[in-house]
Amino acid sequence: MFAKRFAHLTSVHPCYGDKAHFTYARIHLPVAPRCNIQCNYCIRSINKCEYRPGVASRLLAVEDAVKRVEQAVKLYKNKLKVVGIAGPGEPLANEATFQLLKQINEKFPNLIKCIATNGLLLPDKASLLADLGVKAVTVTVNAIDEHVGAMIYEWVFHRGRILRGVDGAKVLIENQLKGIEEAYRVGLVVRVNFVLIPSINDKEVTKVAKEAASRGAVMMNIIPLIPLHKFKDLRPPTCEELRKARDEAEKYIPQFRLCKQCRADACGIPAFEKAPMLSIGKRLHG
Ligand code: SF4
Ligand code: SF4
Ligand code: SF4
Repeated sequence: MFAKRFAHLTSVHPCYGDKAHFTYARIHLPVAPRCNIQCNYCIRSINKCEYRPGVASRLLAVEDAVKRVEQAVKLYKNKLKVVGIAGPGEPLANEATFQLLKQINEKFPNLIKCIATNGLLLPDKASLLADLGVKAVTVTVNAIDEHVGAMIYEWVFHRGRILRGVDGAKVLIENQLKGIEEAYRVGLVVRVNFVLIPSINDKEVTKVAKEAASRGAVMMNIIPLIPLHKFKDLRPPTCEELRKARDEAEKYIPQFRLCKQCRADACGIPAFEKAPMLSIGKRLHG
C-alpha cells in the first residue's frame, strides 16, 4: 500500500518526480501566517515580487482558498494534481490549515493534499492529517546535533513555553524525528527538506539523510540558503557544494534536485515558473 502510494506520488507530484515537475501543477494556499519557531534565515513577508518560501501576495481566508482551488481546477484541468499548504508560516500551528484540509478533502477528493512543516507539532498532528486526506508531508530538518540547531533556530515555542538555544533546538529536533516516524506509521509519504547553510550545518547533511531514512522518509530535498534575517551576511552554498551535499546524502536517501523554492502562494507547473530572487518586501512577523 505504502509503496504504491509512493510510486503514484513520484509519477504525478511535481515535488517528488522529475518528470512530474515538468508535467503537473500544484497550488499552494497561503492560509497559515503564524509560526511556532523562528529560523535565523526566515522573514515572512506579504508582497508580489519575491519568489521564495515564506512570501505570499496576501493571506487567504479558508473560503477564499477553496475558491482559488476551484479556479485552478478550471484553469489546469487534470494537470492540477496537488494542493499544498506551505505557509507563509507553519501550517500545523494554524487552525485554518485543518479547516481548509477538511473542505478540500470533501470537495476535491482526487487532489493530493500536501503539507510542508517544521515538524514541531507533527507527532501530535500526523494522525489528524491522515484522517483529513493528506498523503504527503515535507519536514524541514536542518540539523541532528542540537548545538548546530541552536545556531539556526532563535527560539521554539512549545507547550506554552519559549525555549532558546540548545533547549529549543533539542525539543524541535526530537519532535521532527518523532514526527517523521509517526507520519510514516499512519501511512503518509514523508520527504525531508534541508537548508544548506555553509559553515553552519554542512556537516549535518548525511546525519539528517540517515536519521530521516531510518524513520521512513523516502526523499530528501537539499536547498540552498537564501541569506535573510540574522543570516543575511552569510553566503549561499556554491553549486559545487550543493552538488556534493546531494551526492553524499544520496547514499542514504533519494534526492530531489529540481526544487525552485516556491512562494507560499505559488500555482502552476513548477518547472515553467520564473524564479527571480528579489530580497525586498514588507516584513510580516518576527
Ligand atoms: Fe507539497 Fe511542499 Fe511541494 Fe508544496 S512545496 S507541493 S507543500 S512538497
Ligand atoms: Fe520561517 Fe518556516 Fe522557519 Fe517558521 S519554520 S521561521 S515559517 S522558515
Ligand atoms: Fe516543488 Fe520546490 Fe516548489 Fe515545492 S518549493 S513546489 S518542491 S519546486
